[in-house]
Amino acid sequence: MGRPQRIAILGAGPGGTATALELIAAGVDPGDLVLIDKARFPRPKLCGGGITVRGTEWIARVLGARPEGGGTTNGLEFRCELGAFEVRERGPQWVFDRGELDLALLEACRARGVEVREETNVTALEPAPSGWRVRSGSTTETFEWVVGADGANGLSRRASGLRGGITGRLVEAVFEPVSADTKPGTLIFDFDPILDGIPGYAWVFPFPDPARRDGLFKIGVMDGRGVVAGDVLRRWTEDYAARLGYRLVDSKIHGWPERYFDAGVQGHRPGLVLVGEALGIDALLGEGIAPSLEIASYAASRLRRALDDRSATIAGYETGFLATAEGRNLWFQARLADRLYGRHPHRWLRVLFGMPYLRALAGSGREAYGRLAQHVPALCARYVLEIARRGAPSAAPITRAARPAGTSRTAFAESRDVQ
Ligand SMILES: Cc1cc2nc3c(=O)[nH]c(=O)nc-3n(C[C@H](O)[C@H](O)[C@H](O)COP(=O)(O)OP(=O)(O)OC[C@H]3O[C@@H](n4cnc5c(N)ncnc54)[C@H](O)[C@@H]3O)c2cc1C
Repeated sequence: MGRPQRIAILGAGPGGTATALELIAAGVDPGDLVLIDKARFPRPKLCGGGITVRGTEWIARVLGARPEGGGTTNGLEFRCELGAFEVRERGPQWVFDRGELDLALLEACRARGVEVREETNVTALEPAPSGWRVRSGSTTETFEWVVGADGANGLSRRASGLRGGITGRLVEAVFEPVSADTKPGTLIFDFDPILDGIPGYAWVFPFPDPARRDGLFKIGVMDGRGVVAGDVLRRWTEDYAARLGYRLVDSKIHGWPERYFDAGVQGHRPGLVLVGEALGIDALLGEGIAPSLEIASYAASRLRRALDDRSATIAGYETGFLATAEGRNLWFQARLADRLYGRHPHRWLRVLFGMPYLRALAGSGREAYGRLAQHVPALCARYVLEIARRGAPSAAPITRAARPAGTSRTAFAESRDVQ
């Protein structure tokens, strides 16, 4: 028998595997790590599978190449009743079947010498004199450090009593186009649900490969505040898909929660850190893969230093993360979510779709998507200028106006006053 491992990583989704890979890259002995997951991989994970550029770059850097499967998209499109605009990043986005992607990341950990325990459900977690006791079945082990990477509703947050962010509710299923005007290369984000009182957006993502003309699509809706009943979200999704010309392929529409990051969330107790969605993801767009990879990079660097210092505590784990580009971005996305999914969603939809500077930034192909926080001063200045010129956008409900057949959303928007 080898010597006991020092660090247990609970959860082998992208948050957990990325932390293991980053710890190894930082010089931690793989023999000190054990990855524990209750599932057997490849496991199903409800997810659109869209990965934006900071995620694709992370994966390419750490794995050396794009894993098998999935495909590259042409870009993103944001739309609502008021119009549509393109969001261009400075590099490729991928879509992946999460079963395949998460397995590739797990195999990379195994190949680097990490012990992986699948089908091991952790049922209890409690502080010990030096570390944490981790129980699964009749086995209890003590680890110097626990990395809580067990997702939105994981045990690690509950057991450590750390404060979490808002929990959203999402539903999703695979659909096939029947009479739909498809855009297979594009990740579509549609803020249509806001018109029906759902604080979130719907997505239409190609699946499994955007390059296939005969491909299927994942369609779902996010309730970013967790206030709408699951069966209402399911009915809404089915109606929305039918309106667009899609038919359900899956046997049912599945639901799963998401937990969002915000400034007040806590992610550290002596000997324990939360990563990935256990810490919190993008509150505006529900993006979790790229944020989980970036949180993992941060957590691994802090944990590495704590190991070097033989310290069980990481001073300012949360504030340190807020000072990173990803931390600032997640904080800013939470501010935008408070507005778009808050008291005056129609006003903020008018801002999002009516502000020329924002649209230009989105389409610029610069580091804007996922890094809007760095443009805050310019965004605020332009917003104030717009208000001085045109007055504050109305908060009145936006109604579904009949868009004449053959009129594009963009042309239609230009013919209407988005104020
Ligand atoms: C419907 C839907 C669509 C989404 N679409 C996208 C998208 O297109 N793009 C995007 O970037 N993000 C998307 N997300 C978010 C994304 O899926 C998550 O944020 C991401 O998976 C978080 O990674 P993670 O590793 O932190 O957690 P997870 O991927 O949830 O992994 C947690 C792991 O912990 C394991 N685990 C949990 N409890 C225990 C336990 N007690 N013992 C042992 N193991 C345990 C689980 O089995 C799981 O494997 C979507 C989410 C939903 C719900």
